[in-house]
Amino acid sequence: MYRYETHLHSAPVSICAKTGVEAHIANYKKLGCDGIFLTNHFLDGNIACDGSLSYREKLDFYFSDFDKACELGKEAGLKVFFGVELSLLGTDFLIYGLERQWYYDNPQIMEMKKSEELPFMMNAGALVVQAHPFREAGYIDHIRLFPRCVHAVEVINSCRKEQENEMARLYADHYGLLPFAGSDNHWADRLTSFAGMEFEEPVDSEKQFAELVKSGKGRMFVINVADGDVI
Ligand SMILES: [Zn+2]
Ligand SMILES: [Zn+2]
Repeated sequence: MYRYETHLHSAPVSICAKTGVEAHIANYKKLGCDGIFLTNHFLDGNIACDGSLSYREKLDFYFSDFDKACELGKEAGLKVFFGVELSLLGTDFLIYGLERQWYYDNPQIMEMKKSEELPFMMNAGALVVQAHPFREAGYIDHIRLFPRCVHAVEVINSCRKEQENEMARLYADHYGLLPFAGSDNHWADRLTSFAGMEFEEPVDSEKQFAELVKSGKGRMFVINVADGDVI
């Protein structure tokens, strides 16, 4: 089985991330993963860039951590891919499978409401996943669900409470949405549990990953570091 972290944030691009790409790469190498998807907060979320920059300049900054991770990953022997995490007032979506150029070519996504933007991305070939849909936090006014605008639901998020993950699983099952797992790692090795997707074949591109998940060929995995269990 080939394992991939699917939900990962790095400093300095994500404001909330506590570690840079070096520490992440060392950690996932140690965990035996074949690769990682760096999914920093996109331009509509917790990105650490100057608001006065142009869309293109913001994207350049956005991809700077990814470029650095690619270089370090090559040296370390860990595959590095990217996804993006879109945000709407604390409701988040993970997007995989679109080329970097696609984001440069489509600045109009910043003006779209999520119920337009997500299907637009799906039509362009993206895999769309709602991240931690039942997350509750002081800064989230209410839970928002988009059952007709996503392919999959993050039903295992290593940083959410069991009850929130259970609700996500009920939601996914009821709507026939694919189950998806990720760590939402902002801290490199300072988690006790890691989650992601595994496949019988190695993944070599974001597009292939998106297709494999959409066709139901992905399986969720969890690594509990404390007791070494793998379920
Ligand atoms: Zn974050
Ligand atoms: Zn996240």
